Amino acid sequence: VQKAEAIVSESTIEKPLTSIDPLIEAKVDSLLSIMTLEEKIGQMNQYNGFWDLTGPSPKEGAAAEKYEHLRKGWVGSMLNVTGVKNVMKVQKVAVEESRLGIPLIIGFDVIHGYKTMSPIPLAESASWDVEAIKKSAQIAAKEAAASGINWTFAPMVDISRDARWGRVMEGAGEDPFLGSKIAIARVEGFQGDDLSSDSTIAACAKHFAGYGFSESGRDYNTVDVGTSTLHNIIFPPFIAATNAGVRTYMNSFNELNGIPATGNKMLQRDILKKDWQFDGFIVSDWGSIMEMSAHGYAKDGKSAAELAINAGSDMDMESHLYVAHLASLVEEGKVDEQLIHDAAKRILRVKYELGLFDDPYRYCDEQREKEVVGSLSNKEAVLDIAKKSIVLLKNENNLLPLKKEGQNITLIGALASDKNSPLGSWRIGADDDTAISVLEGMQKYEGNIVTYEKGAEVSIGATLFPKEVKINTTDKSEFPAAINAAKEADVVVMVLGEVGFQSGEGRSRTELGLPGVQQELLEAVYEVNKNIVLVLTNGRPLVITWADKHIPAIVEAWQLGSQSGHAIAQVLYGDYNPSGKLPMSFPRNVGQIPIYYNYKNTGRPVLPEEDVVFWSHYSDQENTPLYPFGYGLSYTKFEYQNIQIQEVSISVKHPNIKVSVDITNSGDYEGKEVVQLYIRDLFASITRPVRELKGFEMISLKPGETKTVDFVLDKTTLGFYDNNGTWIIEPGEFEVYVGGSSRAVLMSNFKLK
Ligand code: BGC
Repeated sequence: VQKAEAIVSESTIEKPLTSIDPLIEAKVDSLLSIMTLEEKIGQMNQYNGFWDLTGPSPKEGAAAEKYEHLRKGWVGSMLNVTGVKNVMKVQKVAVEESRLGIPLIIGFDVIHGYKTMSPIPLAESASWDVEAIKKSAQIAAKEAAASGINWTFAPMVDISRDARWGRVMEGAGEDPFLGSKIAIARVEGFQGDDLSSDSTIAACAKHFAGYGFSESGRDYNTVDVGTSTLHNIIFPPFIAATNAGVRTYMNSFNELNGIPATGNKMLQRDILKKDWQFDGFIVSDWGSIMEMSAHGYAKDGKSAAELAINAGSDMDMESHLYVAHLASLVEEGKVDEQLIHDAAKRILRVKYELGLFDDPYRYCDEQREKEVVGSLSNKEAVLDIAKKSIVLLKNENNLLPLKKEGQNITLIGALASDKNSPLGSWRIGADDDTAISVLEGMQKYEGNIVTYEKGAEVSIGATLFPKEVKINTTDKSEFPAAINAAKEADVVVMVLGEVGFQSGEGRSRTELGLPGVQQELLEAVYEVNKNIVLVLTNGRPLVITWADKHIPAIVEAWQLGSQSGHAIAQVLYGDYNPSGKLPMSFPRNVGQIPIYYNYKNTGRPVLPEEDVVFWSHYSDQENTPLYPFGYGLSYTKFEYQNIQIQEVSISVKHPNIKVSVDITNSGDYEGKEVVQLYIRDLFASITRPVRELKGFEMISLKPGETKTVDFVLDKTTLGFYDNNGTWIIEPGEFEVYVGGSSRAVLMSNFKLK
């Protein structure tokens, strides 16, 4: 009965901020009125430029054909052409040699930096610092835009609960609330206030939709999720990106509940373009139109093109199927010409917004490229976000911070001197081996003697984008030297984890322990010296259950980009007090996956109870993760007290609940804390998770200082999507939890009526 009164709130979909400019619209329409069908289809065609277009002008083969198509006006966009010189080369052909001279939009995967690399997105997300994340996207945009690029295929806003999936490195983790805030920060960072400025680029929310839920974490795999998960977990960051005015979307390789995302009309036309009023354009993923045949959905290339355009995919990335088949599909009456018109219109709209028609070479200034790309100020800015991304997982006996003088330190691990791995995956604009290594970072602190030993290689052979990373599982010949050096040390710092290309696209893993012989190395060193600081560098949550039990200090340092080593050294020596919090749960073992904090209760208890024979548990492992979502320590201590609820309005129509809490720094260091607010809706017409993040704020406190943090819960946070995708708020009791992780214990409650 109570639920019958549920309030259907006004849509949470606001009108996109970048509403269409009438002047631009008039220009687009006028241009469209003189375009042939072929030229409109040309706008919908995107070609790759790597390998075949950057050399001397080709005379024959695929590259020559691409040039020919550029001249005919059959290409609307190129990806993977970078650097002012190369971009000029293809842009000149489009602008000066085609009939209408429509400029190309130049796309590139600017995922976490262009040349100056920021931490991988998962790492940045651990900062929970949306301003810093926005700044990092701004720098990436500035560098890319100075290098001829005007469109990035980022942010990836796919939520994922599966650390086996290699692309978790590219996202914001497991939570839709945090993921939404980060999606907004990244879109705003890339696009700025003025898309036509020469230091901003168009952003792309990807992959629409469900890619992060690939079955068993195997990349590209089937996605089969229910409506509630789709609306409440997968969609929210996309909605946030849309409301922030993201100008483009990318669809996805995966099928969703039986229909490939690329050919999925419900996703693209009904939800994104109609319900969410998205007025930019959708690009397919690489070859994903073609791949619909392999899915068993399109019987050949031609029908794949038909299915994709009818479903709402506006631009074909490297399937070459739109340019080959759309015209005849229109002629045969299988595709409505109006759909082509609409797709071309969306693409041209964004080109106008980027200012490409005012000056197609506005992103092509070699002088600016020299000054901006890799500048000192960009390096300083990525160092800042790198420090903020580090998460302190354990620190017994105050082993950290290290003393600045008089300590004899042994540094161990191939990753400690690795200048490539910290750049992470998706760093195609960066120069190889350009990151500051941990060894280099630590050598800056001259008061200590640092002895370095590799101990063991992590991978064998090429580190530069290998097809498959080969892991060293046998060679332990360098163990003895490392063990000997460790014996002498006051503290041993071991840098272990994944090499840069072990995560990313196509890099799924079934075992998440320290790869190769590193676990053995860790245990062997531990035998001779227990004073170990373990620095993890990796692109996904790892299983480090043994380390958690034995090693006194553990630092999660991810892959932190160009300035990695400086950031890590500053944290180890206490020049930056770690403030990061995990954006994804760390499992105790792989069998627990998918594991996430906002799970739902079952009908059974999770611990044994009298009279209950079967309960919801594993007989060989605990249910809880090793480290939960939101978790991270500091060199100081924060105490939470005095949670207060002020019921400004308890009406489901206009709920307004104020929550305040006092946080005191009761330790010896100044530090930053991410204060987190979770709710639980106790009973609902669709079961709700045991906890949901609904607010967070980062505060800075001096020793002894107390601050009050206020949160507001309102109609944007107290509801959920029903199975039709409608946002509803129901009366009933809510619990509120506040603390420094998703295990927050300070609790209060209120009732909505
Ligand atoms: C990835 C996309 C990426 C595209 C272009 C695909 O393989 O899934 O995320 O933007 O390639 O490089």
